Amino acid sequence: MKTLGIYIHIPFCISKCAYCDFYSLADCNRTEEYIEALKTQIKSFKKRAAGYTVDTIYFGGGTPSCIQPEYISDLLSTVRKTFKVHPKAEITLEANPGTLDSNKLSIYRSAGVNRLSIGLQSANNAELKMLSRIHTWEEFESTFVLARFEGFDNINVDIMYALPQQSRTHLAETVNAVMNLSPDHISFYGLKIEQNTPFGNNPEIAKRLPDEESQYKMYMESAKRFEDGGYMQYEISNFAKKGKKCRHNIKYWRCENYLGFGVAAASLFEGELFSYAKNIDAFIDDPKSPALVESTQKLSEKDLATQYIMLGMRLTSGVDRTEYFRRFGRDLDADYYKKLKPFIEKRLAEKTVGGYRLTRRGMLVSNYILSDILEF
Ligand code: SF4
Repeated sequence: MKTLGIYIHIPFCISKCAYCDFYSLADCNRTEEYIEALKTQIKSFKKRAAGYTVDTIYFGGGTPSCIQPEYISDLLSTVRKTFKVHPKAEITLEANPGTLDSNKLSIYRSAGVNRLSIGLQSANNAELKMLSRIHTWEEFESTFVLARFEGFDNINVDIMYALPQQSRTHLAETVNAVMNLSPDHISFYGLKIEQNTPFGNNPEIAKRLPDEESQYKMYMESAKRFEDGGYMQYEISNFAKKGKKCRHNIKYWRCENYLGFGVAAASLFEGELFSYAKNIDAFIDDPKSPALVESTQKLSEKDLATQYIMLGMRLTSGVDRTEYFRRFGRDLDADYYKKLKPFIEKRLAEKTVGGYRLTRRGMLVSNYILSDILEF
């Protein structure tokens, strides 16, 4: 069975967070037109994806939970009418506390959404305020409990670490508070200061970040806490209870086919990597226009093999020599053993029965290791 993941971008938020450089607008006044445009674009891929079975769907943003829930049902119904969707498809919706209520949650459930990914970032209200998040810890907690009550048994919570002036104790309090709620999955990302965001434009912010050694300890200590609490690490920033890994995101790391719909969405489909421009007006005007494609690259077998290593090394299972040979007809050891050897000696990478992977220490410096072995 040829499988396919679908990503749908909802580019609206209640307001912008101080660190965010995702394409999202704190202004939802074109929502209806945008949803219509999305439906048109989705339908236009019917023929191209005819031989595929969709086994994951992911609503990301932005804040998909800030628009009316009927739009989500409508989009899912369009996806089902356009593509063959597996009855056990994983269907995720990103949501923020302060934008959910029981009516929305029940409409999502009826529409088939079976996984929620809730953006928390911190359990400390002062930190949430500093990040310009729209909610408090208490609002998150009641949203989480409500989602459980409405039957969601697969919930991710996002935590962010290495925040300005964050201490290891503060972070540990957030980690413990989240684990006390027992979500099924935890995403744990370090704050990155992006240009052209309020944080990026304020030189004081960078000065207040925890130093490298503290960041290292924050990552290692939290990862250990997650594991002790029954969350298995399966990717640099992702931890899951048994059977609750995010199947959609694994497609990205395994370089499998996915189609992204909507403004700024990216796709990897049949060896072609392409993404749409960050321009909602142009998207609404003509969602089928070839001019919306901002970048496109037909990947050669060698490019795909490189992507497979670059993304696969993010996973704790690493890259597999049999899979590498099956997909690209190449010998993993011949291509990478010499390059990885210095990192294996420093215990930043290791040889596994099936191939290679990074150690947890190596994961923290994955960009450096990968840029070296892939010769960017
Ligand atoms: S809610 Fe998410 S997408 Fe929206 S501004 Fe904040 S971080 Fe960005």
